[in-house]
Amino acid sequence: MRYAIIGAGLAGLTAAHEISTLDPAATIDVFEAGERIGGKLFTVPFDSGPVDLGAEAFLARRADAVEFFRGLGLGEAIVHPSGLSSTVYSGGRLNALPKGGVMGIPASSAPVRELVSADTAARIDAEGEAPGIDWSVGDDTNVGALVRRRYGDEVVDRVVSALLGGVYSCTADDLGVRATIPKLAEAFDELAAAGEKVTLSAAVSRVQAGAVKQDGPVFGAFRGGYAELYETLAEKSGAAIYLDAFISGATHDKQGKFVLKGGGDGAYDRLLLATPAPTTAVLLKQLAPAAAQELKRIKLASSVVVGMKFDSATGLPDNSGVLVAADEPGMHAKAFTFSSKKWPHLAERGGALVRASFGRFGDETLVRADEDDLVDHALDDLAAATGFDGRAAGLSEIYTQRWFGGLPRYDETHLATVAEVREALADAPAVEATGAWAGGVGVPAVVADARAAAARLVG
Ligand SMILES: Cc1cc2nc3c(=O)[nH]c(=O)nc-3n(C[C@H](O)[C@H](O)[C@H](O)COP(=O)(O)OP(=O)(O)OC[C@H]3O[C@@H](n4cnc5c(N)ncnc54)[C@H](O)[C@@H]3O)c2cc1C
Repeated sequence: MRYAIIGAGLAGLTAAHEISTLDPAATIDVFEAGERIGGKLFTVPFDSGPVDLGAEAFLARRADAVEFFRGLGLGEAIVHPSGLSSTVYSGGRLNALPKGGVMGIPASSAPVRELVSADTAARIDAEGEAPGIDWSVGDDTNVGALVRRRYGDEVVDRVVSALLGGVYSCTADDLGVRATIPKLAEAFDELAAAGEKVTLSAAVSRVQAGAVKQDGPVFGAFRGGYAELYETLAEKSGAAIYLDAFISGATHDKQGKFVLKGGGDGAYDRLLLATPAPTTAVLLKQLAPAAAQELKRIKLASSVVVGMKFDSATGLPDNSGVLVAADEPGMHAKAFTFSSKKWPHLAERGGALVRASFGRFGDETLVRADEDDLVDHALDDLAAATGFDGRAAGLSEIYTQRWFGGLPRYDETHLATVAEVREALADAPAVEATGAWAGGVGVPAVVADARAAAARLVG
């Protein structure tokens, strides 16, 4: 059986590996438009060692992913964070990241009291008395609109957008509750099903009460960066990987085999698309027009990461990083990760490693800015937020990585769109699609969705 996979990001490479396991006689060709594999996983060679400029961690609580990495022989390469806490820069000062709540949405004013005005604190505490939220089981809504309506703008702009923005490159106003905070949507469902009054504070309390204490670190990473994962997947899959192979179309020939425009010699029995949603839409235009139509609805958010190595770490706070409140005046960066504080294996290299992130959905100004300007913004914002003078600390190395269309926007229509795509694809034999748009943006979710898509394809 001959398989063609389009895209050598995490999804495409995971699928290639899975196919090779399930169908050992398979011939697999992977076509990658870029000049390297990995997609949004990208480990760059700083002088002191490899550093990730795309994804830098994974949710280690996802046992399926950890098992998968171990199965690849990467168990020894997995490392965990130092456990230092993160901060929020708001109101011109650093604040501890609110504890409790769900994605920064509190059940009472207590966790966010330092971050919001007295009026907002009072409003949060009185929310349970306000008329209930009109919610039926299975409903969905916009995160930003919901929290603004119930608690006011400050909670969204100072906490929730900062937290969600770190994961999705979007503010809360561009994200859906069920897609990004599914436990909160389930709590609304439960309140509605029980005929109880549906309020935000009651739903958050319910999530908190139901939270199961789990042992072990929340996050993991690879000692040598994500390159350890994508290079292992590529090698173990045994696939032929073609770089600089931009595929612009896919059709059937008279025998019903797949033919690609831009790569391969045709006659593929099975086709797997592991590209971002808009590209997948183009590639499915002829093979599954209804799925293509739905996929076009998924928009992408861009961002840019500036990785900086400083000779000295003196003055850098003992935290894992800073989230910048969306309404903080004069700031350009949306977050800083103090990588060498967050990860002991990076601290061992000496000096300080800091990642500055910029850009949110709908605004590419910073993603397109000159590198010099981005570095100036990073150093100025870092100094403003923490007092750390990066220029004086000796900035010895800089890597800038722009992620145009880096992440799909998981808005309140997203899950319905994905369901429609899946349904339409079920009518298209021997073709599958996967990727960060399909089952979640996090690395474990992408791996799980790619493995499932590969299994369906092998049949
Ligand atoms: C800045 C950033 C930070 C992140 N941080 C984290 C994190 O810390 N933890 C976490 O769990 N997740 C994180 N993520 C999310 C995670 O990295 C992604 O969801 C995941 O890597 C996406 O993998 P993918 O294979 O679906 O897509 P991609 O990586 O986008 O791969 C798709 C591939 O298809 C190729 N392609 C596109 N069009 C064509 C074509 N026409 N022909 C051939 N090839 C084509 C692309 O070049 C690309 O290589 C982060 C993402 C970004 C952008």
